Amino acid sequence: MKNLDQRNQIIEYSLKLNSTNLSPLRSGNISLRGIEDDIEGYLITPSGKKYETLKPEDIVFMGLNEDEKSHPTNKPSSEWRFHRDIYTNKKEANAIVHAHSPHAAAVSSHGKTIPPFHYMIALAGGDDIKCAEYATFGTEQLSKNVIKALENRSACLMSNHGQVAFGKNLEDAFELAQEIENICHQYTIALKLGQPKILSFEEMKKVLDKAKNYKKG
Ligand code: 13P
Ligand code: ZN
Repeated sequence: MKNLDQRNQIIEYSLKLNSTNLSPLRSGNISLRGIEDDIEGYLITPSGKKYETLKPEDIVFMGLNEDEKSHPTNKPSSEWRFHRDIYTNKKEANAIVHAHSPHAAAVSSHGKTIPPFHYMIALAGGDDIKCAEYATFGTEQLSKNVIKALENRSACLMSNHGQVAFGKNLEDAFELAQEIENICHQYTIALKLGQPKILSFEEMKKVLDKAKNYKKG
């Protein structure tokens, strides 16, 4: 089967969506940039399937110029539009994780940008984390809103829905999604205590400069 390793990797991380509680039951979706028959595209989880039942052939390859209607067999994730648009707009994106993680989904229901109440906000690429405006799941409008919220960022919240994160590989994208969930958890607690102190623009600039040289183990 074509791209078998990538298909298996997507299944491994789809199972982790459930086992790490990042996205419950059938929610969320995962994709990897890939090439099949010389066509540039991405491999993506199918729509509405239980992750524990996934087989390599269930993972759908979509060309960057292909749409759902032209796809012959499996149904790709209903969110294929924002996966396609992230790969088209962000050359550095090789993997995408979309999750309904509990705290990110809760914070997203306020539809607000998360300010730098913690310096780790910098992980998403800037001095705040944007929240994409609400649109119905699976729509072109939702994709437009996500792309806007991802300007100069590698993760964002999606209003009344959840979050999306991308990275140079699936391990990085998944870890970033976990970090976004942690940040949203901390923010939820901070707000319960009152209004948190927000780091200054100057301080966040220092953090962002330092983060460029921060090597992970
Ligand atoms: P899919 O099963 O179609 O990927 O939908 C899950 C989801 O999270 C929609 O936003
Ligand atoms: Zn979703």
